[in-house]
Amino acid sequence: MNATSTKPNPLDLDLAGCESLVTALGFKAFHGRNLFKWMHKHGVVDFDAMTDLPKSLRTVLLETVEIRLPRILQTHPSADGTVKWVMELVDGQRVETVFIPEGKRSTICVSSQVGCALECAFCATARQGFNRNLSVAEIIGQVWHAARQLGAAPTNVVMMGMGEPLANFEAAVKAMDVMQDDLAYMLAKQRVTLSTSGIVPNIYRLREVSDVSLAVSLHAPNDELRDELVPINRKYPLAELIPACKHYVAGDKRRKITWEYVMLDGINDSPAHAKQLIRLLEGVPSKVNLIPFNPFTGSDFGTSPPDRVETFRERLARSGIFAMTRKTRGDEIAAACGQLVGRVQDRTGRLGRIRVEADTRVDLR
Ligand code: SAH
Repeated sequence: MNATSTKPNPLDLDLAGCESLVTALGFKAFHGRNLFKWMHKHGVVDFDAMTDLPKSLRTVLLETVEIRLPRILQTHPSADGTVKWVMELVDGQRVETVFIPEGKRSTICVSSQVGCALECAFCATARQGFNRNLSVAEIIGQVWHAARQLGAAPTNVVMMGMGEPLANFEAAVKAMDVMQDDLAYMLAKQRVTLSTSGIVPNIYRLREVSDVSLAVSLHAPNDELRDELVPINRKYPLAELIPACKHYVAGDKRRKITWEYVMLDGINDSPAHAKQLIRLLEGVPSKVNLIPFNPFTGSDFGTSPPDRVETFRERLARSGIFAMTRKTRGDEIAAACGQLVGRVQDRTGRLGRIRVEADTRVDLR
């Protein structure tokens, strides 16, 4: 693999893109389907091993395009079966991908950007600042590697790793399309979840082009607190976020928004917060994931004690909101996103408190 190569990368293409690629080279579209299938379903990235492609097409492909994948740099297995991979991209940047086995299910947590521009106060990735968007090939490449490592495609993918997927909109959507393609990873739409901090215009845009499950990092039941914890809230406050989420699930009774709520000791975990949250989510088809805060070096926050989390969960449940507490997985390998890469390349040394201009670098197009 050549970092300076400018040849197009077929892993950046969806099925239609692969078909156009080969027709542009003068071959029948079905060879494009086969190319797509070889790469994703069979994990083959050597054109010469794609035995049902005409020899002449293989020769042209070798000359004109180059399949470039991220490289697994480190593998960190954990006692509970969680595996965290640090992947190196062709320009030497690093991102993390996490595999979480849960009985018959297997979930891959995928990164969408190198670093993140959003500066959420409790997030390790935020400490690195924003570096760049991942390409489609770099997003789907994480799933490609996971499928090869595990011997089968995962049953679920969550866009919940490093970065804000709705700030890398086109690449995230195209990569999620490939995940769902029958000739690739065959994931059902409800088993692909995009997690966002709440970039409201792009929630509307996503609804137009995709029907993946939506998770929203809420973390606070009022604007005053959310402005501090999730600074993008200053640009898109709850009065805009909640209707966008309602719109996203409207028209299909089975759909729900998953609200992520990290439980921060003494910050957002009181009975009064639970009450506000119940009121806020009134009329929104919802489930709430309470996430025990995963501490990391240099953060001032503490993890809420388990009994407080349970009291909070019970209050929500009593009011009819389905709420569960996420099990902490892979603790000993620092599975909270951004932590491993954070260790090797924290370039900012920032303490992760909030800056007012936090959201100005978000690409909204
Ligand atoms: N930018 C997207 C996706 C990446 S973060 C988003 O904000 O949703 C994935 C989830 O992990 C988010 O809900 C995020 O708030 C949460 N998270 C980040 N740091 C955490 C930490 N230290 N402990 C627990 N959860 C954390």
